[in-house]
Amino acid sequence: MTTEEVPDIPLDVPELGETPAVARSRRVNVRIFASVFVGLVCLSILILHISFAWNVRVKDLDDAQVSTANLSRALAEHAQATLISADSVLFGMVQRLEVEGMDRDSLARLYPLLASYVKELPQIQGLFVYDQTGKWMVNSMDDSPWMLNNADREYFIYHMTHADRDPHVGEPVKSRSSGDWIIPLSRRINHPDGSFAGVVLASVEVEYFLKFYRSFDIGKHGEILLATQPGILLAKWPASGEIIGKNISNSNIVSDHASHNKNGIAIITAADGVKRLHSYKRLEKYPLFVTAALSYDEVLASWRTETLLQSVGVLILVGMLAWMGKRLVNQIKLRAQAQQKLLSAREKLVEMNKTLQKMALEDGLTGVANRRQFDVTLANEFNRAKRERQSLGLLMIDVDHFKKYNDTYGHPAGDVCLQKIGKLIKMNRPGDLSARYGGEEFAILLPNTDLKGAISVAEKICADIRALNIPHGKNPTGIVTVSVGAQATVPTKTCNLLDLVSAADKALYTAKARGRNQVCSADDDIPAAFEPG
Ligand code: GH3
Ligand code: MG
Ligand code: MG
Repeated sequence: MTTEEVPDIPLDVPELGETPAVARSRRVNVRIFASVFVGLVCLSILILHISFAWNVRVKDLDDAQVSTANLSRALAEHAQATLISADSVLFGMVQRLEVEGMDRDSLARLYPLLASYVKELPQIQGLFVYDQTGKWMVNSMDDSPWMLNNADREYFIYHMTHADRDPHVGEPVKSRSSGDWIIPLSRRINHPDGSFAGVVLASVEVEYFLKFYRSFDIGKHGEILLATQPGILLAKWPASGEIIGKNISNSNIVSDHASHNKNGIAIITAADGVKRLHSYKRLEKYPLFVTAALSYDEVLASWRTETLLQSVGVLILVGMLAWMGKRLVNQIKLRAQAQQKLLSAREKLVEMNKTLQKMALEDGLTGVANRRQFDVTLANEFNRAKRERQSLGLLMIDVDHFKKYNDTYGHPAGDVCLQKIGKLIKMNRPGDLSARYGGEEFAILLPNTDLKGAISVAEKICADIRALNIPHGKNPTGIVTVSVGAQATVPTKTCNLLDLVSAADKALYTAKARGRNQVCSADDDIPAAFEPG
């Protein structure tokens, strides 16, 4: 047999000792297992994908936090450096004015110095000296006193009313000289007795900060703020309308965060509906703070796009897996159905085989063993009796005048009569074998039975058949009777089983010759005159 010819043996046909029900339950289990397995694989892929996407999201937000924190630190350092360099100029001016006084000559000498400072420091738009009445004394643009007065400015009033010598960052104002927004950084000048002598002011350009802020990529909805500690806005990028100088102390970032902590992170949805990730930081030396904010949506935009694409890929994969899994389960189901049919066919075949076997060994009309079975059993029992040196009995039974019975009552009635006799002789001892020898002749094998026992069984059968009381008008007795030839022998080595059959047959012949309806053995003599029925 070639490899191709090897039959495909089903995997789940009932195994040895396994009932069809157990095999069926095993097939159902395989299908459930396959479905659960495919389901679990799909679920695992989805869980892995979701957990991976979530981790990437968390990492993107963490990265954005680090970025905004770095940005706010850089902005705070920039703002502080800007103010420190302007303030160091003011400090020098105060020292000089307090030593040299504010007469015309000393102010005239101061002017070129102020002009050179402004030229050197791009953040300073102008440097100004006011006397104790707020009158402009000298500035970096001109050494001649102007007819302007700044006594009404917040920073002037502050120094006039506060004796401390620290620099003061005032509220942003529109410059009276240029019209630009400036942040006033000022210091107080004292008379030698400590009384108020005036104010020096450096006007720091808001534009200087904005220029720096513009250099950062903070997306479309990001935001950078510079504000005083109480919440007055000094600079904002991107700028929207006239907002410099606006009080933002009620905004969440100030009221809930920047006014309480030196620095931190806050996620706030603003009035414009944009959710932002803020990082804020206070300046070390000035009562100011900066915030850098990135839009939440923009931070997560690339994550969203990537996750969407990956999700589509994963869903396609899971869909394909589920589809293939479904096909697999269907295949298992179809195969199981085919095997179920195969099993039923096999069961039917087994049944048919049993029937055929029965038909091969049984006589169809009477239900007793047929001639074939009789011959095989006779040979077996004869050999056994020979081996074990036991007696084997044999009865040959023939219905008396049965031809006449048929002629009188018809063949179907004859069949019924034979069935009744067959049924009766079948009720013998276990181990005996009743068989239809041919026509209306029956034979009974009686293992382990001597002649006496065989005759006794034969007598009983004769009596029982008479007791059936089947009418037979052409039989002198008026009912159906049988004649029986009985023989029993302990077979010797040279003995042939045909001798046993011949002897029983001869005995039957004797019974017929002696008048029928009786039992004879092979030892009985045949009478001289005999009329066949
Ligand atoms: P005897 O008493 O000498 O045995 O006479 P008999 O008429 O019984 O003997 P015979 O051998 O002349 O006839 C046997 C008859 O049995 C002939 C046949 O029609 C009948 N017979 C044999 N087999 C069947 C059968 O299967 N059904 C029916 N109805 N009759 C059968
Ligand atoms: Mg006969
Ligand atoms: Mg007969």
